[in-house]
Amino acid sequence: MRKVDRRAFLRLGAVTGLASGITVGSNGAANALGSDAAQGVKKYVRLGRTEMKVADISFGSFPLRHGDEGLVHYALDQGINYFDTAESYGDGTSEVVMGNALKGRRDDVYVATKIAAGARDSAGSMMRRLDECLSRLQMDYVDVFFNHAVNDVDRLKNPEWHEFAEKAKAQGKVKYLGMSGHGGYLVDCVEYAVEQDMFDVLLLATNFGEDAAFYERFTRAFDFVANQQGLQEPMAKAKEKDIGIIAMKVLRGAKLNDMRPYEKQGYTYSQAAFRWVLNMPEVDNLIITMRNRDNVDEFLGASGSGAVTDYDMALLQQYAKMNEATYCSNTCNDCEGSCPYNVPIPDLLRMRMYAMDYGDVSIARQEYARLAVDGSACLSCDGSPCRDACTHEIPLADLCAPTHQMLS
Ligand code: SF4
Ligand code: SF4
Repeated sequence: MRKVDRRAFLRLGAVTGLASGITVGSNGAANALGSDAAQGVKKYVRLGRTEMKVADISFGSFPLRHGDEGLVHYALDQGINYFDTAESYGDGTSEVVMGNALKGRRDDVYVATKIAAGARDSAGSMMRRLDECLSRLQMDYVDVFFNHAVNDVDRLKNPEWHEFAEKAKAQGKVKYLGMSGHGGYLVDCVEYAVEQDMFDVLLLATNFGEDAAFYERFTRAFDFVANQQGLQEPMAKAKEKDIGIIAMKVLRGAKLNDMRPYEKQGYTYSQAAFRWVLNMPEVDNLIITMRNRDNVDEFLGASGSGAVTDYDMALLQQYAKMNEATYCSNTCNDCEGSCPYNVPIPDLLRMRMYAMDYGDVSIARQEYARLAVDGSACLSCDGSPCRDACTHEIPLADLCAPTHQMLS
C-alpha cells in the first residue's frame, strides 16, 4: 500500500486523468446558483454539551460593516440563529453592527465573540476586553466567548485565563467558553485543550482538503490510502467529551467565481464543500462569512442536505486541481524556520487569501498591519532561503514580495 497526501493526490489526478465528470460551460452562470428561492435553514443541530440548537450553516461576520444591519436581519429571517463575531473584526465594527442589528432579537439568537488572550495577559485585562465586547454588542452576555486564533499552548496554560473565565461565567457575562484556531500548532493546542477539558466549544479550520477521507474516496481503487490528518484525532477525542465542534474556513480559499463555470443549479462548489464538512462525524455545524443576500441563499441551499453526491465530489476535485498550487492550509508549518528574517510566511499567505480569494483587500491590509514582523525583508531578498521550503510546492519566493507590496 502506498500513502498519498493532497500533493500526491493531485499528481495522481494529473497522471491518471481522474475524471471529474464536469465540463466548463455546463452552466456558465456567474450569479448565485442554487438561490432560485430563499430556502432558509432546514436543520438545527445540538452544539455538544452546550445543548444549544444552532443552524447547521451559521453566520460568520468577518467583513461586517456599517450599513450591513439589513444583511443580518435577512439571515435571521432565513432562520439563522448563531452569529459569530470577534473583537478584531474591523477593529470592533463587526460587533457594533451585529449589536445594532440584533437589538430586540437577543432572545432569538446565540451570539459568540472572541478575544486573543495572550500567554502573559492578566485576568483584569481580559475582563476589560470582554466588557468592551459586550458594550459594542450592546448585550449583557454572550453565549460563547472564545480565546481567538490560539496557536500556542502557552496561551492555554496562562492561569489568568482560568481566573478570568471562572469570574466571567460567575458574573453571567459568558455562558460557555470556546477556543478558535487555524495555525500550524493547532493540533497541539486542541490536544491540550481537550485533555484539560478547558472549553465547551471548539471553532476549528477544517475542510474537505484536510480530511483523509477525501483522498481515500478517490484513491481507494488504486490501492492508495490517505495520510492521517493530525487534527481529526483530537477532534474525535473532543467529541467523546461532548465538546461542540464548529468548522470554519470550509471553502478552502473561497475562490467561488473560479467555480461558477462548472456548477449547475442546486450543485454549487460551496454547497458541495459544506456537505462534505457537515458529513464529517466530528463536526456539529459550520460558520461561513456571508457578504450579501445571494451568499445567504446559496449557502443555505446546503442546509439539511444529506450525503455528499458524485457531482459534489467532482466539484471538490475540480477545485482542488485548480487551486492547490497556491493554497496554504496554514496548518502544516513545514516552512517554519526557512526565512532568515523571520517573515511569518503562512500568515502572509492567509492575508493574501483574504485579498485575492475573498476579494477583501482592506481587511487583508488591516490584518497585515497587526503582524509583529511583516514581509518588508522580502523586497531585498532573492527568495533563495524559502524557494523550496513549502512541502506543498507553493512558490513562496514568488508570492511573498508581491504580497507585501499589495498589503503594506
Ligand atoms: S523571500 Fe526572503 S525574506 Fe521573504 S519570506 Fe522568503 S526568505 Fe524570507
Ligand atoms: S506555506 Fe506551505 S509549508 Fe508553509 S504552512 Fe503553508 S502549506 Fe505548509
